[in-house]
Amino acid sequence: MTRTAVVAGGAGFLGSHLCERLLADGWRVLCVDNFVTGSPENVAHLLGDAFRLIEADVTAGPQTVEGPVNAVINLASPASPVDYHQLPLETLRVGSEGTRHLLDLAREKGARFVLASTSETYGDPLVHPQPESYWGNVNPVGPRSVYDEAKRYAEAITMAYRRTYGTDTGIVRIFNTYGPRMRAHDGRAVPTFIRQALAGQPITVAGDGSQTRSLCYVPDLVDGIVRMTESELAGPVNLGNQEEISVLRLAEWIRELTGSASGIVHVPRPTDDPSIRRPDTTKAREELGWAAEFTTERGLTATIDWFRTRPESAPEDLRP
Ligand code: NAD
Repeated sequence: MTRTAVVAGGAGFLGSHLCERLLADGWRVLCVDNFVTGSPENVAHLLGDAFRLIEADVTAGPQTVEGPVNAVINLASPASPVDYHQLPLETLRVGSEGTRHLLDLAREKGARFVLASTSETYGDPLVHPQPESYWGNVNPVGPRSVYDEAKRYAEAITMAYRRTYGTDTGIVRIFNTYGPRMRAHDGRAVPTFIRQALAGQPITVAGDGSQTRSLCYVPDLVDGIVRMTESELAGPVNLGNQEEISVLRLAEWIRELTGSASGIVHVPRPTDDPSIRRPDTTKAREELGWAAEFTTERGLTATIDWFRTRPESAPEDLRP
């Protein structure tokens, strides 16, 4: 029998790739999104009998869906620092109220609930690499706290539903992921550097660029979410690429792969910007049989190819 998944935030970057993958796996998908940082364009090619797009704000009230639902996957939340700094209260509300409404839906339907949490729950980590057992080093009142603490609350309420109502829940902690359909101006390093390199503009590296990130290419990450959805694990389980590179090296690499002559300039680092970031993915490997497979070079090349086709990545004088 065809299974149905509700994907909240499904019209965003990760969500649109997840919807594609679930459809390819034979699921029926109900994508719920208010388009605050996503866009119907991201999923327009999926519309059809097996895929419905519902415009709704998951914080607005209880989610009602007709018929059986097998999985509720919650990706709804502004995710880039630029977005959650512009939408601080919305970010807190979607992590708290939005997550609660989606947990209620999963509970009502007897569905599996999967929360897309984040490596930001580790804050600026004092343990490296970060295993799931590390509780984090988060500034609860800094500008990033609206996102970090919303996700920490979302994890807490997810575990409370599991303990109180026996809801079948799973939590994945996603580390930096990139790929086609990121917005050129969302402020995250990969789209920013690609946009600047393609436009021949200076590439803006925060601080001296020695801070590290681990970058996962989107099909790998989506495969991890699908495995978590198909499992009965509670988690949290880290999903991310083990390869760790400095932000400066990333800028240089993108410059090489685009063939750009852009210079690299240094700009101030944002408050509470994490210095090191690499997942310990032992648990994902042992319990989900998952590991990232795409090399950073392959993922970056594919992402650059996609950005080359986007008008918003073109130099301003060449935009339509
Ligand atoms: P995104 O901004 O592209 O997608 C988020 C989607 O949620 C958007 O389509 C947005 O319109 C929707 N949304 C936001 N608030 C909503 C609301 N109140 N009601 C309905 N829809 C709402 O970001 P993304 O990078 O695709 O991230 C997806 C999820 O994965 C987020 O929860 C994010 O925290 C998590 N995550 C992403 C990364 C990453 O590197 N991309 C890393 C860690 C965690």
